[in-house]
Amino acid sequence: MNERPYLTEAPGERYKEVREEVAKLCAGFPGEYWRRLDETRSYPTEFVTALTKSGYLAALIPEEYGGVGLPLSGAAVILEEIQRQGCNGGACHAQMYTMGTILRHGSAAQKAEYLPRIASGELRLQAFGVTEPTSGTDTTSLRTTARRDGNDRYIVNGQKIWTSRAEHSDLMLLLARTTPRDQVAKKTEGLSTFIVDMRKVQGLTTRPIRSMMNHNSCEVFFDNMEIPADSLVGEEGKGFRYILSGMNAERILIAAECVGDAKWFTERSAAYAKERVVFGRPIGQNQGIQFPIARAYANMRAAELMVHEALRLYETGQNPGAEANMAKLLAADASNEAANACIQTHGGFGFAEEYDIERKFRETRLYQVAPISTNLILSFLAEHVLGMPRSY
Ligand SMILES: Cc1cc2nc3c(=O)[nH]c(=O)nc-3n(C[C@H](O)[C@H](O)[C@H](O)COP(=O)(O)OP(=O)(O)OC[C@H]3O[C@@H](n4cnc5c(N)ncnc54)[C@H](O)[C@@H]3O)c2cc1C
Repeated sequence: MNERPYLTEAPGERYKEVREEVAKLCAGFPGEYWRRLDETRSYPTEFVTALTKSGYLAALIPEEYGGVGLPLSGAAVILEEIQRQGCNGGACHAQMYTMGTILRHGSAAQKAEYLPRIASGELRLQAFGVTEPTSGTDTTSLRTTARRDGNDRYIVNGQKIWTSRAEHSDLMLLLARTTPRDQVAKKTEGLSTFIVDMRKVQGLTTRPIRSMMNHNSCEVFFDNMEIPADSLVGEEGKGFRYILSGMNAERILIAAECVGDAKWFTERSAAYAKERVVFGRPIGQNQGIQFPIARAYANMRAAELMVHEALRLYETGQNPGAEANMAKLLAADASNEAANACIQTHGGFGFAEEYDIERKFRETRLYQVAPISTNLILSFLAEHVLGMPRSY
C-alpha cells in the first residue's frame, strides 16, 4: 500500500527503480550527517563519493565514456529524489550539467581525456566559473580575460565570485573574455570557455564565502594564471553560446531538485499536522493549517508537470527554452512556499536545528536567486515569449 497517497507520482512515472535505489543510498545520509556538516560548513565528501561510486553522478555521461548514458529525465529523477529524501544535491549537481558543455562542444581529445575520468570519480568537475563581482547577472560584461600567448597557452587574469565547490573540484569550466568588448560586434561575442585543471595551474587562489547555507562557494582569483591552449573548449569567441546551450538542462535539473524539496517539506508538514495535538485535537484538523499545505502541494504538482513538459520537449529535440525557465520559476516558488508552510506548521520546532526544516528552508531559498534569479526568468518570458519590449 502506498503510505503517502497524497504524494502520488505524476502519470507515467519513470525510473522507479532508480528512485528506489537513490532513496536507499540517501538513507545512509540522514539529517544528523547534514547538520554536522552544516555546522562547520564542510563538504559532504562521503555522500558525493557514494553517489559517484553508484554511477548516479555519471548519469548523463554516455556509456562509451564510462557513464550510464541516461537521458535528462533520468538525471532529473536522481536529483529530485536526493532532495526529497532530505539530502542536498547542491554539493554536486553542477557536474551533471557542466559536463554537457564538454560533451557537446569539446574536442575528441578533451572528451577522451576527461569524461571517463569524471565518470569513474577520478576527476571532479564541480566548479563553474561564470559570475563575477562587478558584472553579476549581466554576464557578457564580465572582466576576466584570457589572453592568447604564443601557440601554446593562454594567460588568465580576473576574479570570479560564488564559484561553488571550487575547493572540492579538480576541474573548472571557466568563461573568460578573449577579445575585448569594444572589438566585437555583439557583446555576446569574444567570450570563450575553458576547461581548467585546477590541480595543475599556478596563479589561482580560492577564498571561501561563508553564506546562509552550506554551499561551499568561493571567490576565485586569477593572477597571470597560465593554461595550455588546448584548454579552450570549442572555438575561441563562442563560449557564451556554449554556456547558453547548457542552460535549459541546468534549469530543468534545478527545477527537479526544487520539486524534490517541495515534496520533502509537504510530507513533513502533513505528517506533523496529523500527529501534533494542541487544544485537544490534531493541528491538521484546522483548515488554517491544512490549506497552506494543500496549496503548496498543488503548486508543487503543477511545477512538476512543467518539469515533465520541459523534459519532453528537451528529449524530443524541440526547444524547451520557455518551459525550462517556467519549470525553474514555478518549482523554486513551490519549494519556497512549501518551506514556509512547513516552518509555520511546526511552530517553534520549525526553527530547531534537529528537525532539519530550517536547514532545508535555507537551502531551498537559494533557488529564488541562483543559478538564475526569478526576475530574470520573468524578464525572459515577458520579452522572448510575450514579445514585450526589452528592458535591458
Ligand atoms: C550560494 C550561491 C552559489 C552560486 N554558485 C555559482 C556558481 O557555482 N557559479 C557561478 O558562476 N555563479 C554562482 N552563483 C551566482 C548566481 O548565479 C548569481 O548570484 C545570480 O545569477 C545573481 O547574480 P548577482 O548575485 O550578481 O545579482 P545581481 O545581478 O547583482 O542582481 C541583484 C538583484 O537584482 C535583480 N536584477 C538584476 N538585473 C535586473 C533586471 N534587469 N531586471 C530585474 N531585476 C534585475 C536580480 O534578479 C537580483 O535579484 C551562486 C550564487 C549563490 C548565492
